[in-house]
Amino acid sequence: MGGAFSFLKVRGQVRLSIGAFVEDKIIACKDCGANFVFSVRDQQFYAEKGFENEPQRCRDCRNARKTQRAGPGVREMFEAVCAQCGVTTTVPFKPRGDRPVYCRTCFSASMTAVRA
Ligand SMILES: [Zn+2]
Ligand SMILES: [Zn+2]
Repeated sequence: MGGAFSFLKVRGQVRLSIGAFVEDKIIACKDCGANFVFSVRDQQFYAEKGFENEPQRCRDCRNARKTQRAGPGVREMFEAVCAQCGVTTTVPFKPRGDRPVYCRTCFSASMTAVRA
């Protein structure tokens, strides 16, 4: 210790203890295998946010995953107990206490019963 800068070695990466990152990193995307740049600016951004892991995916794949997760095709499912037969089922809405939830079998059975 005692120089103008003290260096901190973090996982093979040298950075100044004042938080300045010295160089861009090239990382291979986990999804598409393409190399992408984890730039000094991004590294600083990550450090500021307190992220400990480096990005695993290129920007394209990250965006694709984000849209996938929020996309209309994927609906969150909630667990519920069928009011008719007591089986545990999943429903695409949050069950509220004021309405009974039926499993698929009982639901279609009740529909048939109404129609008959
Ligand atoms: Zn990718
Ligand atoms: Zn049921």
